[in-house]
Amino acid sequence: MKKEFYTVTSSTYSADIQILKGKLESEGIQVFLRDENTINTDPLISDAIGGVKLQVYIADKERAIAIYKELKEYVVDEKGNLIECKVCGKPQLEVVYLRKKLVHKLFPFFEPKKYRCDNCNFLAKSL
Ligand SMILES: [Zn+2]
Repeated sequence: MKKEFYTVTSSTYSADIQILKGKLESEGIQVFLRDENTINTDPLISDAIGGVKLQVYIADKERAIAIYKELKEYVVDEKGNLIECKVCGKPQLEVVYLRKKLVHKLFPFFEPKKYRCDNCNFLAKSL
């Protein structure tokens, strides 16, 4: 059976894309990386061929896009300004749910939001 793929995003460095890949897979979405081996062998040609492409089945397209956006939308204050990390000062805080406790795996909406800095990985329980 022929399946069609949708390219969610592409990135020059495959490390960036591993984060999204892990997130999608944790949500049960099958992920395909294209051109990853080429790029790991020769990073200089990565830009030329458009970077690593992260693809999903067309059927998973909408969910994958929603997760991608959630992952890439940094936290803003009520005025829409990006909130800076308390540790490194970069305005790259993302909302994360760790789902470490069983109760949060079963009832994810009970888990309070946490904020992770995309730059230094600092994890804040509040802003
Ligand atoms: Zn930071």
